[in-house]
Amino acid sequence: MRQVIALLMLCLSLGQSGITGVVEQTSLGGNLYLVNKTYRLTEHYVPPDLVKPQVKMTTGGIRMRKEAAEALEQLFQQAGEQGHTLVAVSGFRSYETQRIIYQRKINNSGKRAAELYVAPAGASEHQLGLAMDIGRRGNNGLNGSFGKSKEGQWVAQNAHRFGFIIRYEAEFTEITGYAYEPWHIRYVGIAHATEIFKRGIPLETYVEELSQSTFGGLLHHASHPAD
Ligand code: ZN
Repeated sequence: MRQVIALLMLCLSLGQSGITGVVEQTSLGGNLYLVNKTYRLTEHYVPPDLVKPQVKMTTGGIRMRKEAAEALEQLFQQAGEQGHTLVAVSGFRSYETQRIIYQRKINNSGKRAAELYVAPAGASEHQLGLAMDIGRRGNNGLNGSFGKSKEGQWVAQNAHRFGFIIRYEAEFTEITGYAYEPWHIRYVGIAHATEIFKRGIPLETYVEELSQSTFGGLLHHASHPAD
């Protein structure tokens, strides 16, 4: 019996490290992928179902993953009904495109500014196809003024209802490593977005807590027979 328990514990501990690894790198569900400077995508990753959202955009080639694109269409439509015209500025970006943008930012603004505002290749949510940079009518510039505009404030208060979060809030910088980016919205699905919005926490914290509770629940459940 003791051997059985020991074997069970060994399997559990192996299982735990496997679960933790997967959770940290690819998250708990398809839309909850955590990609940042620590957890990066390979140069080969391209999302499987990129489509062009039917929304106002600055250039024709902007794409997102299908589910996110449909949610974006609803977000833009409802914003429009409230008198806020939004414009899609940048969606999916390949590893190579991100590498070029990051290098250009370093050349133009220096390493510190690049680190605060642009993800290195592999570390960008834009490569996931689940992020969109947005502007407003008459101002497509991606800067802090979007956050102060009525359009930006409407997005901040309502994006979660469509499954999006403001990924880089000013008070998250220490955790995310990025400055305030009111224009960068990230699709995680309505349930997660609503919870994240209500609690006012960065995705890193949310995923960490969720993985711990999942992990804790498994542990409790699995260790019960040994009691
Ligand atoms: Zn962005």
